Amino acid sequence: MNSNVTSVKLVLLGEAAVGKSSIVLRFVSNDFSENKEPTIGAAFLTQRVNIGNHTIKFEIWDTAGQERFASLAPMYYRNAQAALVVYDVTKPQSFIKARHWVKELQEQANKGIIIALVGNKADIIEDGEERKVAREEAEKLAEEEGLLFFETSAKTGNNVNETFLAIGEKIPLKNS
Ligand code: GDP
Repeated sequence: MNSNVTSVKLVLLGEAAVGKSSIVLRFVSNDFSENKEPTIGAAFLTQRVNIGNHTIKFEIWDTAGQERFASLAPMYYRNAQAALVVYDVTKPQSFIKARHWVKELQEQANKGIIIALVGNKADIIEDGEERKVAREEAEKLAEEEGLLFFETSAKTGNNVNETFLAIGEKIPLKNS
């Protein structure tokens, strides 16, 4: 029995089609779909992970990336303790958008929110040709702004659990 459960409200932000819902699907169900329906508004899912003898229960809000929903985002990040700001490593515009989300979170979200910058679709760039956002550029942003940083693939699962675990490790635990 594990009685030490810490709930963590986590929000995903990022341009449409960067793979936010796919990252959640991989993390929650260890599954992937090539033809995901776009998220309308926001979706809510939970997943537990064990860290040492503690359990972290992630309460995940996956927001829609379309511009017309952008004004709703504060409702989801306002009380969040953690955020994944996701971009697509093959789409420079999505990295610019990620920079904006990081800035908005730093200005408007809880002080102390744990932010992970996530470059998704890393499986596509293995041969190097399709990469459009340099790893160094993202690392620099992460270092300057104090963010966790991972390149992930929701398709292969690479680094998806690691991203959530790294956030979990930064969460102050109760009863410890
Ligand atoms: P969202 O709008 O940010 O939630 O993006 P989705 O999760 O709906 O994904 C958009 C499209 O990208 C879908 O067709 C996914 O199958 C695809 N996709 C998502 N993640 C990956 C990935 O890591 N690699 C590849 N190759 N495709 C992905």
